[in-house]
Amino acid sequence: MSEPRKVVLLGATGSIGTNALRILRAHPDKLQLVGASAHSNANDLLQIAEEFALKWICLTDEDAREQAAGKVPEGTELLSGSAGLEELAILEEADVVLVAVVGAAGLSPTLAALGAGKDVALANKEALVAGGQFVMEAARASGARILPTDSEHNAVFQCLGGGSTEQVEKIILTASGGPFLDWSAERMAKVTPEEALQHPNWSMGPKITVDSATMANKGLEVIEARWLFDLPPERIEVAVHPQSVAHSFVQFVDGSLVAQLSPPSMTFAIQHALLFPDRAPGVDDTVDFTQPFSLDFQPADLERFPCLRLAREALTAGGLGPAVFNAANEVAVEAFLENRIGFSSISRTIERSLETMELREPNDLNDIFAADAEARRVATAVAHSQKPS
Ligand code: NAD
Ligand code: MG
Repeated sequence: MSEPRKVVLLGATGSIGTNALRILRAHPDKLQLVGASAHSNANDLLQIAEEFALKWICLTDEDAREQAAGKVPEGTELLSGSAGLEELAILEEADVVLVAVVGAAGLSPTLAALGAGKDVALANKEALVAGGQFVMEAARASGARILPTDSEHNAVFQCLGGGSTEQVEKIILTASGGPFLDWSAERMAKVTPEEALQHPNWSMGPKITVDSATMANKGLEVIEARWLFDLPPERIEVAVHPQSVAHSFVQFVDGSLVAQLSPPSMTFAIQHALLFPDRAPGVDDTVDFTQPFSLDFQPADLERFPCLRLAREALTAGGLGPAVFNAANEVAVEAFLENRIGFSSISRTIERSLETMELREPNDLNDIFAADAEARRVATAVAHSQKPS
């Protein structure tokens, strides 16, 4: 029997991280956790370090690191900050790095891991949205693989059988439509953070849950797919599928469509990415065909969900457009969750930020980081000028 694959898990205490730990517990013969990070949840991370006898952990938040300093189990080394995150990402013994931190904070460790030749199971989509060109270049340069772990992209990856997109006409990303799928624009304008945090199918972190409610999430995923599968925007479609069972389709040139199906749990995608090309029994029950059920599909409404339209426009504008879209969205979602702006101000903040900033071609990664920082400043000012609802 071969050695277990050694895994580093960045964002171990989040929704993806917690699901990944279930998979690691279920397959100790195939997967071994060697390092893990969290932002501020020191207690949970220390528990993970204890359970998996980790040599390396990292707390990116400085206060949390100080709080944890005296409680680290023997044999575990505590790293800190974004430098610590990058150190974890390039650990000598690691084979695969699961990037499950939230936001553009995922970009630097993703680049570091790929640069060191580590395979990256990429759940974090903001890294590809902000710096897709540079992420793909880093993978090409070192020969490391990016294993798509977002469920839609993992579905496409599975439909392609790990092969190329040469015979692909287009891909169709499915979207649940979120909790406000059938709501009028007027009703949506008054949505509260509590309502936006109630997703009908998926249990996820707060940022992506709001992104699903605005459908910015699907916009981010169109951009993510553009890089992962090297397809132009017009060959990446979106279909609303409220049950979240068919996780995306690949349409081949002859018109045949292939989909990947499983219940709405991220464990299917995470396990596929971590074990690829191997497979093992899943940790959640799959679709039950002994009971009747139906699957519905409908087109997305870009008028009620302007964030999806704006993401496409940012992608078509090219250059720094997607990085600006992402940064403005992160700022707007945080402001909405803190009750500083209303739900419809999320798209307004993104739109004004895209209008204000110059979306030129980035020369290098520094341009991406600078645009990200500048877009956050612009979006913060725009959000500040909006009313709470
Ligand atoms: P989450 O908020 O539940 O967890 C985020 C994790 O990252 C936590 O461990 C947290 O401690 C850490 N973190 C937070 N801020 C950080 C920072 N600034 N620097 C470093 N670490 C930080 O989020 P999640 O729902 O698990 O999502 C993680 C990523 O995966 C996101 O990019 C999301 O879009 C993507 N994703 C999530 C799901 C899902 O079902 N949750 C599905 C597909 C893709
Ligand atoms: Mg997804």
